[in-house]
Amino acid sequence: MIDFSGSETRITDSTLVIGLVLPDVMGTYGDGGNALVLRQRARLRGIEAEVLPITLADPVPASCDIYTLGGAEDYAQRLATRHLSKYPGMQEAASKGAPVLAICAAIQVLGHWYETSEGERVDGISLFDLTTAPQATRSIGEIEGRPLIDGLTQPLTGFENHRGGSTLGPAAAPLMRVTRGVGNGAGEPVDGVIQGSVLGTYMHGPALARNPELADYLLAKATGRELEPLDLPDVELLRRERLRR
Ligand code: GLN
Repeated sequence: MIDFSGSETRITDSTLVIGLVLPDVMGTYGDGGNALVLRQRARLRGIEAEVLPITLADPVPASCDIYTLGGAEDYAQRLATRHLSKYPGMQEAASKGAPVLAICAAIQVLGHWYETSEGERVDGISLFDLTTAPQATRSIGEIEGRPLIDGLTQPLTGFENHRGGSTLGPAAAPLMRVTRGVGNGAGEPVDGVIQGSVLGTYMHGPALARNPELADYLLAKATGRELEPLDLPDVELLRRERLRR
């Protein structure tokens, strides 16, 4: 596992603390990179920021300013679900408005329940009003779409690989209308979910490296301030390459 904290990690009262939740079991396709992107975009604006990895050996603290969770295969996903149910620190923080970013399997864990590819139903932690069941085929490939939430204007891009399809209930809204790929799978061509301060997507990538506007949307919520734009030509180049067919 990558050492996300770094040897010089120093957390003070003014540090923006980015909780990287269970990178030991949830982090397929480099999803831990989302925490690094948040840290870097904060630091480039002079905001002190650190990544706090929270593993299966740690209770989940309610004190982080923002939380990120990555994707996982079925068994790892089960371990994560059990841990988050036992230590509901993230749920407590989210109920007070802390932003949470959930990728792929994490959407499923944060829903009411999900069914594994073996057909077993597992209770989630109900941060999202949604349920997940296996689709007839696995969805694999590039995914793109138009954001459906206020504050985002740029097309979103990522890579999806999941068997589960998620059906949103009335309290949950989709993140984007899909123009390429599958997304949530069940029903309308939409991807992801937003409910209060909690946001989910099937986009790996890592999603925030590909979608800096989404990174800044979460960062603005976590810091409670308006952020000045960053001019980063390399990040723009990456986006242009990803969006080129
Ligand atoms: N196990 C889940 C599924 O297949 C999630 C996979 C993932 O996170 N890539 O739906």
